[in-house]
Amino acid sequence: MTTNLDKPSHFIQQIINADLAANRISKVITRFPPEPNGYLHIGHAKSICVNFGLAEQYNGICNLRFDDTNPEKEDQAFVDAIIADVKWLGFEWQGDACYASNYFTQLYEWAVYLITQNKAYVCELNAEQMRAYRGTLTEPGTNSPFRDRSTSESLLLLEQMKLGKIDEGAMTLRAKIDMSSSNINLRDPVLYRIKKMTHQRTGDTWNIYPSYDFAHGQEDAIEGVTHSICTLEFAANRPLYDWFVTHLPVPSEPKQYEFGRLNLNYTVTSKRKLKLLVDEKHVAGWDDPRMPTISGLRRRGVSARAIRNFCDSLAVAKTDGTVDVAQFEHFIRDDLNINAKRAMCVINPVLVRLTNTSDITLSTILAPNHPNDELMGHRIIPFSEEIFIDRADFTVDTSLSRKKFKRLVIGDYVRLRAGYIIRADEVIKDAAGAITEILASVVPNTVGKDAPDSIRPRGVIHWVDAKTAHDCCVNLYDRLFSVADPDSGEDHFIEHLNPKSLVKVEGCKVESDLAHAVPGDYYQFEREGYFTRDVGSDEELVFNCTIGLRDNWKA
Ligand code: ATP
Ligand code: MG
Repeated sequence: MTTNLDKPSHFIQQIINADLAANRISKVITRFPPEPNGYLHIGHAKSICVNFGLAEQYNGICNLRFDDTNPEKEDQAFVDAIIADVKWLGFEWQGDACYASNYFTQLYEWAVYLITQNKAYVCELNAEQMRAYRGTLTEPGTNSPFRDRSTSESLLLLEQMKLGKIDEGAMTLRAKIDMSSSNINLRDPVLYRIKKMTHQRTGDTWNIYPSYDFAHGQEDAIEGVTHSICTLEFAANRPLYDWFVTHLPVPSEPKQYEFGRLNLNYTVTSKRKLKLLVDEKHVAGWDDPRMPTISGLRRRGVSARAIRNFCDSLAVAKTDGTVDVAQFEHFIRDDLNINAKRAMCVINPVLVRLTNTSDITLSTILAPNHPNDELMGHRIIPFSEEIFIDRADFTVDTSLSRKKFKRLVIGDYVRLRAGYIIRADEVIKDAAGAITEILASVVPNTVGKDAPDSIRPRGVIHWVDAKTAHDCCVNLYDRLFSVADPDSGEDHFIEHLNPKSLVKVEGCKVESDLAHAVPGDYYQFEREGYFTRDVGSDEELVFNCTIGLRDNWKA
């Protein structure tokens, strides 16, 4: 995978530089044009960073524009979620968001104009017939029998389509271009279809809606977009967009440039597939922390900064690529390592009773919130003779070497993070033989001080004070799919869902202050990983594990 961490200019920047130098444009205008038929995902984040990033870099403008031409699949809830996500990523647009639906009247007038220019006609072929007439990649298409109908008749029929007097599917408006073009997009594409549907913004005003292809380029022209940036799959549509610009009295002539989509392994980045995961309840919703959606990543505890840093590190190239999710995770960790406060949470607690209570002179412990950043301050943690440590941090197996097991062993010493050195003396077991309690003793005067010469603690472990700790639930996440490319091969991608992508652990114990944590506060639970509070967990304290601590990615 190529990255441009040192950011040499990419091909679109080179084009813009040349356009500015030759005075072809005076101001860069871009746009991010989502269709509000789902939530934004990490792939969209790349497009957002490219479009808004270029506007920022060249002191231009980037519009947020909704391509809301298909009410069948769209929803105001998606519009709202998209606005929230783009803002959260830290980007701003001038004025209100733009909408294709704002231009429906203009687009209709241009459709009429094309008819009057003998460049469009109302066709009565149904979808199946239209497919048959279209031809194939190797065979030219055949002219529709309606292609030569008179201008006045097409105008009348389009009007009737608009007024809702024609049944859905009975007619379409098509451009009259070239049925034998080697580019299938130019074989008389559909400009308008009948859909007697309520639109989330225009209500019941329209019974016909423009096709994406007819709307998209003209929207750009209306907005004066100079560089219309999209993904590679639209390269073959470019001649059609140019044809519209040539044949319509549009106010400006946008130029389209295509770059490669961002795909991540171990997930899917297609709204249609993400919607299926939501609709079939394989996940808890669009913002399920396992989803590659912006809202899922946010809920998981990934910061906007990490997403932007990651996107900025990616090449803007003319080929599609799949990026190793480990690379994304590297940026997530990198950001959290710097910005997450340290705290302690014991995920699988066992009680430790400190028996030499007269040696415990401290009832609070002062702990730094960050090992390398003084500015993040300190916190005061309650301390008493009863603490919890993780079961995995204790063993009665004294044969384990110091190198192998740098934690608490019966008869040996360990340091409590920011606190005393303790020694495990004895265990109490239940009838079934399970350890219910560890009896230990503190080494006096060891908080903030080196161990006495005679004592060598095996390592440092995290802990919480038992009396003041809060119960919490921790959501541990693994990749949503168990194979790198769930979408290739014979099986449906759903078959590759990882059944262990979410493990809920109840009964964890967290520092008392964390009861006030809010979603979007980032924490490193020492020795465990990065966490944030789950949204909607006001009653019960729930933390989502954003990511573990270990980074295996090599640039
Ligand atoms: P999906 O395939 O997920 O449904 P889409 O392309 O249909 O995505 P749009 O709402 O049309 O979704 O996307 C808005 C913009 O985001 C488009 O310009 C599109 O090219 C871009 N975009 C979508 N997916 C990606 C991706 N994976 N990588 C980069 N840009 C993307
Ligand atoms: Mg699209």
